[in-house]
Amino acid sequence: MDLFIQELRRAEGILFDYNGTLSDDERILEEAYGTALVDMGLEGLAPGEYDSLVGLSDPDIAERILLERGSRDIDEMIQRLSSAYASAIEQRPTISSLTVQFVQRLRFEGKELAIVTGTFRQLMQRGLDAAGLSELGNRSVAIEDVKAGKPDPEGFLLGARKIGVELEKIVGFEDSRAGVEALRAAGIQAVGIGPHLRNEDGLLAHFETMDHAAQAYTH
Ligand SMILES: [Mg+2]
Repeated sequence: MDLFIQELRRAEGILFDYNGTLSDDERILEEAYGTALVDMGLEGLAPGEYDSLVGLSDPDIAERILLERGSRDIDEMIQRLSSAYASAIEQRPTISSLTVQFVQRLRFEGKELAIVTGTFRQLMQRGLDAAGLSELGNRSVAIEDVKAGKPDPEGFLLGARKIGVELEKIVGFEDSRAGVEALRAAGIQAVGIGPHLRNEDGLLAHFETMDHAAQAYTH
């Protein structure tokens, strides 16, 4: 824990994964995938199916679950996913107020911040707007900005360039194995969030939720 605080204080840049990390929305996203499949007349998600794909980009997840069902209608799937996700987050904000305060505190301390996500810019931006963090989207990397999604390091390397901070002075926050692999391949220290990384070795720290990380740093 002390190492987490020490390294975060020392850091000049922070890169956040979006779904399941900054935004507590993995269950919402899972439900949106399930709704999209059923709306397309395909078999819904099997238990554990979504969890086995967490951390991949949304186009990659869509492709795999469609392939499993003998379908290739990725564009339709993405459209249905986007509208199901958008209407779900209108009902419930997914970035907590503690997490918003944490982001504001890091910014106040002069750190350069951005998001590196495997989702679409429009989906990320809706959540940021709802939380009053619109400007965090400006230098962020969405799936449209890269050729290869996580675990490829391309997104984090691009994020580091966008915020103009050397890799060794950045701390990354992630909730998935694929994301942690991408951070490692980029040479960025990783903080793990949530259940998928409970037993992961080599993390700077692990917290059950982003709120726990925020509390550890600010109290
Ligand atoms: Mg994630």
